Amino acid sequence: MTVREALARAQKAFVIGKVEDARLESELLLRHALRIDRVQLYQEPERRLASREAASFWRLVERRLGGEPTAYITGCREFYGLSFSVDSNVLIPRPESELLVDTALRIVRRCPVVSVAEIGTGCGAIAIILALNLPEVRIYATDISAPALKMARLNCRSHGVADRICLLAGDMLDPLPGPVDLIVANLPYVPQREVYRLGLADFEPLLALDGGCDGLEEIGRLCRDVGDRLHPGGFLLMEIGLGQGRAVTALLRRLFPSAGIEVFPDLAGIDRMVVLSLDPVGSSNSREMQRVA
Ligand code: GLN
Repeated sequence: MTVREALARAQKAFVIGKVEDARLESELLLRHALRIDRVQLYQEPERRLASREAASFWRLVERRLGGEPTAYITGCREFYGLSFSVDSNVLIPRPESELLVDTALRIVRRCPVVSVAEIGTGCGAIAIILALNLPEVRIYATDISAPALKMARLNCRSHGVADRICLLAGDMLDPLPGPVDLIVANLPYVPQREVYRLGLADFEPLLALDGGCDGLEEIGRLCRDVGDRLHPGGFLLMEIGLGQGRAVTALLRRLFPSAGIEVFPDLAGIDRMVVLSLDPVGSSNSREMQRVA
């Protein structure tokens, strides 16, 4: 069997098995089985697979057909143009979370920000990209899961930012040493019954997905506690799920009556992020001053 034939067969199996992005997934798995990069894959379409290689590729295809995400099979995932190690202890970074990164970077370029914290960092992707782009900013990243922090540490090392990010174990804001200027968080926000109905936690960690009854338990907890963990004029950026924009805005409005609150959609047009901009000390028209959009 040649590279070309192996790809075609896997692609067909994925189409039949209703695996999305059949071609791309086949390529990622074949590259992983043969330990080659994308260029090598395209350069040698007629290369023959040794029978050992073919067998190991097919084992990967079968794992994928069984529902296991490709990122866990290959052990890595691209996010914001960089590769991050992942395993089943961490949520696989999603493209829509790039909105959090883009917005955080945009804010920091406009406002003086000295310290940033990512809450629930998982594999560390967001904190690491912020560290790579913001060399002057002090960065904390917290997670309640010890194995997740281990993965984040590995990624910090492989991206050369281990000395730039302070990884902290603990619940939510608890481990932070003091207030910061910007907090970014992709907390679990899927309503529990949806997690089970869709089998979302069959492979990914329940802890990173389950937002309780209405999906907003963890987000609500963060909103209620964030006031004394942000400096005046500070920002909170939270990823949210389908249809949660209104409820999160209403909660924040009650907690921070005079702050700026904006909801942003992702590329699919779904409300995906809420940004809270606290009043700077002594400002009367802060909401206008702080608008990020
Ligand atoms: N976006 C993820 C999903 O749809 C959920 C991530 C989260 O809960 N933070 O599966």
